[in-house]
Amino acid sequence: MNIEISRRQLMKGTGAGLAVTTLGALGFGDMETAFAASIRPYKLASLTETRNTCTYCSVACGIIIYAKGDVKKGERADIIHIEGDTDHPTNRGTLCPKGAALLDIVHAKTRTLYPQVRKPGSDKFERVSWDFAFDRIARLMKDDRDKNIVARNNDGVTVNRWTTTGFLAASATTNETAWTTYKVVRSAGMVVFDNQARV
Ligand code: SF4
Repeated sequence: MNIEISRRQLMKGTGAGLAVTTLGALGFGDMETAFAASIRPYKLASLTETRNTCTYCSVACGIIIYAKGDVKKGERADIIHIEGDTDHPTNRGTLCPKGAALLDIVHAKTRTLYPQVRKPGSDKFERVSWDFAFDRIARLMKDDRDKNIVARNNDGVTVNRWTTTGFLAASATTNETAWTTYKVVRSAGMVVFDNQARV
């Protein structure tokens, strides 16, 4: 077969063919995958690995948090990567888009990191210690419960209802934590009890 081609056509064809041949010879797609796979274990190997639970919803997917710096040696741990826990029975390593973006919540400038109070008449919040916060919360709860607990209903039946204080718990906890929280709240007589999965 005699095919007539111009010089321009020859150059175009040769260039395209060369490019395809070169990429094909290198196996570019496979090479990228292999390269990424070879780096990944080393990237995470030197980091501290901590198992935890996604904070967002009551599905409570298991996550692994990777941090630079060994806290056991007194170093500060900077979280640089979070991924699904493949050993976790709930999610088997998968995460929904919210869970996959967990690193953003960790580093968000608006994240609440410590307790604060706004004193009566003040227009701003002030940072307080955890000890202060726990003591203050316990004091207010006790005072309110003592004042408002309904020990018996109109028929004289013991009910021990405490309706004037509510408790907002975290849904993303282990069964054991959820069980303990439930027992503490309900045994105090608290009726208003919910978690962030429904808010
Ligand atoms: S990863 Fe998604 S589904 Fe799983 S707990 Fe977090 S928010 Fe819920």
